[in-house]
Amino acid sequence: MSGFFFYSLFYILMSGCIIYPPNEFVSAGLTIKDIFSKWLGNENTFFIQYHIKRSVITLFIHSILLFGYVFGVLLFGYVDSIKILLGHNNLWLTILICTVILPLYTLYKILIWSMNNWARHPIAQNLALYRNNNNDNNISWTAVASNINKEYDWVDTIVITTNSITCIIVTNNWIIKVMPYKILVAHQSDTVLVVTKSDTHNTFPVTRGEVQFINIEVKPTRTGAQSFDIRLNALDFKNFQDKISRPITILQNITFHKTLLDQFIDNFKEQVEENPYYRSTEELNQCFGCIQATSNVKLFKQCSSGIGNGDSEDCMMCYCRPLWCIDCMAKWFASRLDENAPETWYYSKCTCPVCRARFCILDVCLIQST
Ligand SMILES: [Zn+2]
Ligand SMILES: [Zn+2]
Ligand SMILES: [Zn+2]
Repeated sequence: MSGFFFYSLFYILMSGCIIYPPNEFVSAGLTIKDIFSKWLGNENTFFIQYHIKRSVITLFIHSILLFGYVFGVLLFGYVDSIKILLGHNNLWLTILICTVILPLYTLYKILIWSMNNWARHPIAQNLALYRNNNNDNNISWTAVASNINKEYDWVDTIVITTNSITCIIVTNNWIIKVMPYKILVAHQSDTVLVVTKSDTHNTFPVTRGEVQFINIEVKPTRTGAQSFDIRLNALDFKNFQDKISRPITILQNITFHKTLLDQFIDNFKEQVEENPYYRSTEELNQCFGCIQATSNVKLFKQCSSGIGNGDSEDCMMCYCRPLWCIDCMAKWFASRLDENAPETWYYSKCTCPVCRARFCILDVCLIQST
C-alpha cells in the first residue's frame, strides 16, 4: 500500500509541475514548450502558428496525464490497492475507460482543428473576427496572423510575464494574452481598457517591501470578440500604458503606485507618521517647497546612529526652523536616492536642504503645536 501511496504522491507532484511549472522547471528547460521547441518552430517569426501548435500540444499532454497515472498503476501492479481504495470494482473500470477516452477525444478535436491549415482552431477563429472584410470568407484569418507575426517581431514589443503559464504581449496595435490552451487578442483601435482592481501584498514587512498588482479589463468592442482580464505588477503599468495608444480608465476608488519612487514616497510618509512628534510653540509658516501647505515637519535627530563612534555617515542635529511640509520633504528625500539601488532606499540618508545636516527617515518628525 505504501508503494502505491508514494507512486500516487510522486505522480500528482510531477503532474502539477507539468501543468504549472515552478521556476526551477522553467530555468531547467523542463516545460512543454522547451521540450517540443523543435516541432513548435520559431516564435519570433511565426508567433501565431507557434502558439497554435503550443496550445494543442499542451492540451494533449495534459489530457494524457490521467492515462499515464493509470498506466503506472497497471505497470507497477497497484491495481489491488486502488480497488481497495475505491471500494468498488465498477468505479475502477469506469475510470480506466475515461482515461483512455479523454486523450482520444482530445486527439480527435485536434485533428478537426488542424484541417484546412488550422482554420477551425479557436485561435484562428478568434483572429478571423479581425479580418477587414468580416463577411468574406475568402479573406483568411492568416492575413491577420501574419500582421500579428510581423508586429511581434519588432524590437519594441513588450512582453510582461504574469506567471510561468501566462504572459501579456503588447505590440504597436495588438494586446495579446497568452494562456496554456489559447491566446486572446484585442486590436488597440477598438478596445476599452479599465483598471478594475488593485491589491497589495507585503513581502518584507520590516522594510515595508510591498508588491502591488492591478487587474485591467480589456474589452474589445468588435462583434464576437471576447473580453479578458490582465494582471500586472503595478510597476509594469507605466511601461504598459506607454505602449497603448488609447486612454486607460482607472476606476475612481482604485489607487496604486505607478513607480517604485511613488511607492517609496508613500512608505516614507507612513514611517514619519509613526515617528515621535516634535512639540513646538512656534508659529508655522508656509512650506518653502510648494508655498501652499503649512510646514509641518522638523528634522530632529532621534535615531541611534552616531552614539559613541564618530562615523562620517552619522546623522546630525538640524537646528533649522520647521520649513517644509511632509510631501515636499518626502520628495526631497526621494530625489536624493540612488535610482539603481532601491533596496537601500529605506535606510539611506539625506541632508537638510538648508543646513546640510545629515538625517535618516527616523529623524523626520511631524510637528505637534502646543
Ligand atoms: Zn511643501
Ligand atoms: Zn537643517
Ligand atoms: Zn538618523
